[in-house]
Amino acid sequence: MSTNTTKIAIIGGGMGGLTAAIALTRIAGADVTVFEQARKLGDVGAGVTVAPNGQRVLDRLGVLEKIKRAGAIPDGHGVYQDALGNLVAEAAWEDSAKQYQNVGMYRPDLVNALAGELAPETIRLGHRLTALQHTDTGVRVEFEHGEHGEFDAVVGADGIHSVVRSSLMQLPTPVYSGFIAYRGVLDASLLPDDWPMISQVWMGEGKHFMCYPLKQRKLFNYVGFVPSDRPLKESWSAPGDVAELAAEFAGENWDPRLRHFIGLIEQTFWWGLHDHEPLTNWSEGRVTLLGDSAHTMLPHAGQGVNQAMEDSITLAFFLREASGPDGIAEAFKRYTAVRMQRTAILQNASRRSGSQFDAQNEFEDIAKRDADLRAGRDFRRSVVFDFDAVAAAEKALTRFRRISVA
Ligand SMILES: Cc1cc2nc3c(=O)[nH]c(=O)nc-3n(C[C@H](O)[C@H](O)[C@H](O)COP(=O)(O)OP(=O)(O)OC[C@H]3O[C@@H](n4cnc5c(N)ncnc54)[C@H](O)[C@@H]3O)c2cc1C
Repeated sequence: MSTNTTKIAIIGGGMGGLTAAIALTRIAGADVTVFEQARKLGDVGAGVTVAPNGQRVLDRLGVLEKIKRAGAIPDGHGVYQDALGNLVAEAAWEDSAKQYQNVGMYRPDLVNALAGELAPETIRLGHRLTALQHTDTGVRVEFEHGEHGEFDAVVGADGIHSVVRSSLMQLPTPVYSGFIAYRGVLDASLLPDDWPMISQVWMGEGKHFMCYPLKQRKLFNYVGFVPSDRPLKESWSAPGDVAELAAEFAGENWDPRLRHFIGLIEQTFWWGLHDHEPLTNWSEGRVTLLGDSAHTMLPHAGQGVNQAMEDSITLAFFLREASGPDGIAEAFKRYTAVRMQRTAILQNASRRSGSQFDAQNEFEDIAKRDADLRAGRDFRRSVVFDFDAVAAAEKALTRFRRISVA
C-alpha cells in the first residue's frame, strides 16, 4: 500500500472480521478498527471446523499453533454412516500433503483467540452500523447510538443480514432451505470411554446428525439437521427443545449409540438454515464485503469460516499493492474478481452435500448417493483442502501487474 496509515473500518467482529483485521494489519499495514454490534465478543455459538485451507491462512498470519492448542484434532478421518451406524464412506480430514488436519473449535474460543491478536482499542463493541455512504475522500459510517466516523475504506464482515451489503445493492432476502438445525455442545466426559474421537455423521429418513470433538476433546459439538416447515430467523441463540430433537432420531431404525449420545444432551439451540444464490458483485468504490455477507452458504461443506479466512488474506494481499487515488477501489474490485468463483463453487458444494446427506434431489437413489459420497472425498481434499489462498492471491497479483504494464 502507498501509505501504512490507510484507515479501514471492518463492520462485524465475527471470525471473518477478526481474521481480516489481523491480515489487514499484518500484511497490508493498515490502521484497522473493528465495529461489532454485540457488547461482548464470542458469547454465542457451538463448534466450527477449521479445515486445512483455513489453517493455511492462519499459519501465514502466525496464529495457527495457538488456535490448534485451543481446539481438538480428531484421531483420523471422519465417517458417513447410515442410520444404523454402518459405514457408508470415509470423510476427508487432511490435505494431500498431510500437513494440516481438520481442527474442531469451540466458536467462542476461536473468536477470543483471534481477538487476542489485536490491540484492544482496535475492537469497538456495542457499535451497530446503521448506514454508510461514500464521501469525496472516503466512507462515512453511522452507528445506532448516533456516533459516526470517516474511514478510507470499509469492509463489511457483518454476516448474513449485512447492512453493508444492503447499502451497496438490492438483494433478495435469504431463502429458507426447508431445514432447521438443532445444535449445541456436550460434555465429552459423559460419553463412553471408547467413543471415537472423530467426526461422525448418521444419515437416514431424509435427515442427518453429526458430531465431532472440540476444546482439547473436552466438548463434543453436535448438529441435527431435520426438515421443518418452521423457518426460524437465523438465530444462533434460540433455545430448542431437547425432547423434539430426541424424537427426530428415536426408534429402532437409528443406531443405539446415536440415541445414547442424544440422550445425554441437556441443552440445545435451533437455527433455520438459509441460503443465497451467489452474488454477482461484492464491491463498490471503497466498500467491499467478506465472509457470510458476501457468500452466505449452507453449513454442509463446513466452509463458512474457512472461506471467510481465505477472503481475508486475499484482501490483505491486494490492499498491500494498492496505490494512487483509485488504488483501494481497484484492489477491492480485483479481490472480488479473484474470490467470487471460488466461493460460488463452495456455495454450490454445500447445497450438494446437504442433498447427499439427506438423500434428496438427484441423490434419492441411495446406491448412487453412497457412491457419490465415496468419490467426494478426493474433491474435498484436492479442491477444498489443498487450496492455498496466498498462492492464489500472488498468482492473480502477477497477472494484474502484467495487465497494468501492458
Ligand atoms: C453468534 C453466531 C454464532 C455462530 N455459531 C456458529 C456455530 O456454532 N457453528 C458454525 O458452523 N457457524 C456458526 N456461525 C457462523 C459462522 O461464524 C460463519 O458462517 C463464518 O464464521 C463466517 O463468519 P462471518 O464473520 O462472515 O460472519 P458472522 O460469523 O455471522 O459474524 C458477523 C458479525 O457481524 C456482527 N454484525 C452484524 N450486523 C452488524 C452491524 N450492523 N453492525 C456491527 N456488527 C454487526 C455480528 O454480531 C457478528 O459478530 C455463527 C455466527 C454467529 C454470528
